[in-house]
Amino acid sequence: MFDAFIFWLGEELASAGSSLFDLSKRVSLFYLVSASVFAVFIFYFRYGFAGIHRVKSYFSWRVWWHSSARTDYQVWLLNRLIFSIAIPKTLSQSVWISFLFFFWQEQGLSNLSFGWSDTLVMALFTLCYFLADDFSRFFTHWLMHKVPLLWFFHQVHHSAKVLTPFTVFRTHPVEGGLFFLRSLTVQSLVISIFLVLFPHQISLLQIFGVLVSTFVFNILGANLRHSGVVLSYGKTIEKWLISPVQHQIHHSISVEHYDKNFGVILAIWDRLFSTWSSGHDNQQIIFGTGEKIDNGGVLTQYFLPLKSAIHYSRLKLTKLLHNAQLLSLEAQEHFRRKFK
Ligand SMILES: [Zn+2]
Ligand SMILES: [Zn+2]
Repeated sequence: MFDAFIFWLGEELASAGSSLFDLSKRVSLFYLVSASVFAVFIFYFRYGFAGIHRVKSYFSWRVWWHSSARTDYQVWLLNRLIFSIAIPKTLSQSVWISFLFFFWQEQGLSNLSFGWSDTLVMALFTLCYFLADDFSRFFTHWLMHKVPLLWFFHQVHHSAKVLTPFTVFRTHPVEGGLFFLRSLTVQSLVISIFLVLFPHQISLLQIFGVLVSTFVFNILGANLRHSGVVLSYGKTIEKWLISPVQHQIHHSISVEHYDKNFGVILAIWDRLFSTWSSGHDNQQIIFGTGEKIDNGGVLTQYFLPLKSAIHYSRLKLTKLLHNAQLLSLEAQEHFRRKFK
């Protein structure tokens, strides 16, 4: 039993380590390096040779070995272990896709028979998949900030005092679970609808969509958003795409930056919800929530949100029961007066 546990632990840790060489993973060495090359290129283009020092913090061991960064790595590894036990991802996705596939057909959805080429269907699938995925990420993130109970868990991501590309994994397992359900729902919905509308043209679509969304996003410096590299995309592009500096604003401790820039790739959702704030290269931002959790280690990150959520739920429940009691007393009084 113990041997099996050690074997499993070793396998999981080795698979976490292999992410560094896996092109489908955001923290692969290729994307970590490509982000810095991208930043150097942009800064050189904007400020000449003197601009290159703006990338310095990306290589600073003080950042990468900061206690906050070490907590990022611990949370990343622990979450991987938790989720490898808790969620059989491929199984649940294929079950959902087949369930929805038959459900849509029962609702009258069928093959469109438009005779569209595979390329056109692929392009349409990628566009729908991308928009549904990006909006649902935005909306789930928005909810994590707006619903008090969810914020207790999401503050783990915001408690980072320095940002490294691994901060993206600094999330409470409850948030991880919610985002897993989000991706399961969106992927299953889009894939099942396309399977019904365009049968026989779906085989490569899934791979194509994943390739497009991860590769383009990552090569263009996705890792910079969780870093100290203050890089804007420039006035015009900022309106359409979430830049590193926009996400850094999202992590800011300043009150004027609260609840800004929930988006992942497109900035349009934030503009629609009036939560958009553009940034610039000379912005100075302090990261964190300003709460006790910022100074906590990995155990605090896991247990403090749970404690706060239980405390909050208890208060709400007590208030609810109290209100229900008052209502019932009022009703009794009303009944008594009416039929006396
Ligand atoms: Zn957030
Ligand atoms: Zn973040």
